[in-house]
Amino acid sequence: MWAIVPAAGRGARFAASAQGSAPKQYAPLLGATVLEWSLRALLAEPRVHAVVVALAHDDVEWPKVQVKLDSAKIQTTLGGVSRQDSVMNGLETLAPQAAADDWVLVHDAARPCLNAADLGALLDAIGAGETGLQAAAPSVGGAVLAAPIVDTVKRELGDHVATVDRQGLWRALTPQVFAFAQLRHALKEAASAGIAVTDEAQAVERMGLRPMLVQGSPFNVKITRAADLALASDILKMTQEMPMRVGQGFDVHAFGEGDHVMLGGVRIAHPKGVVAHSDGDVVIHALCDAVLGALGEGDIGRHFPDSDPQYRGADSRVFLRAVAARMQAAGLKLINADVTVLAEAPRIAAHRGAMTANLAADLGVRAQLINVKATTTERLGFIGRGEGLAALASVLLGS
Ligand code: MG
Repeated sequence: MWAIVPAAGRGARFAASAQGSAPKQYAPLLGATVLEWSLRALLAEPRVHAVVVALAHDDVEWPKVQVKLDSAKIQTTLGGVSRQDSVMNGLETLAPQAAADDWVLVHDAARPCLNAADLGALLDAIGAGETGLQAAAPSVGGAVLAAPIVDTVKRELGDHVATVDRQGLWRALTPQVFAFAQLRHALKEAASAGIAVTDEAQAVERMGLRPMLVQGSPFNVKITRAADLALASDILKMTQEMPMRVGQGFDVHAFGEGDHVMLGGVRIAHPKGVVAHSDGDVVIHALCDAVLGALGEGDIGRHFPDSDPQYRGADSRVFLRAVAARMQAAGLKLINADVTVLAEAPRIAAHRGAMTANLAADLGVRAQLINVKATTTERLGFIGRGEGLAALASVLLGS
């Protein structure tokens, strides 16, 4: 099973409503772009072996998307002036690889809410087995995801309005799937007849073939105007399994010369200081490691190395704010954090409110979502002997 995603469009209606932003397929959506979301379901479907993305000649956004998706299934080609031209270019790119009877599906670059179940149902309907490469029966005109029209439909006719019988009316969605040679022939025929089709099925229908209509979710919406982004965002939150990420962190510093320790960004008087390159704030270091761990982005030492002189004596809250920015860039936010300070002294009870306020401010959340507690180690081990102090942190991130 091959796939083509025409993504070379300028989206005139979207550009007008979004006031000159990037093309709609690159509009930001829940920590990704519309195009990334549109490609994800295809890339996750094991029966889809390759996805050809047709891009505008002056596209500068795609390389970032490709790096993020990091999929060997993706190929690219140059798009055309129209959607039809872009799909044709995709078919020509596939021509050396695809057999005439191979299935090829076409999906809109601006349909980010396709869910795996609908895609699976579409492929099941055409009998695409595990390999996804079974030949099409010659009489089958492919299949189209579609949603029945539930509203009463009106047609304006000059001086009066008529009610259209909605029986048998469907909204055509994507993906749409056809046999490779069938689609290529149908699109060539449409082009030579000078007909601009609005979906691939229209070209196939012109050949006297009947695509199957496979009922899909009405939430598989197309981004046409800027306001559709908010709708798509709500739909994705509601229908997709949004990632939840858990992370843990641990940090220790030995006591040394000094008259205070920094904990959660609060300066707490103490007969000893800590030995550290930065300000040695174990609470913030453990919390940074927990967030970075949840993001799958290594640890604090990788981002703010000890060897870098700019971090000498650094205020650790700078690290926490930088980590929070990475979290935001990944489209995630803190659901909650739980921090335990392990120390015989100092006592933190009087400082807990100030600590949680600092941490919450840096992470951009309400203070109620952050719990800071402390324990001794019953005079056992290095902490019990007063040689140093430590902190543990756990976080949960979500969208
Ligand atoms: Mg540390």
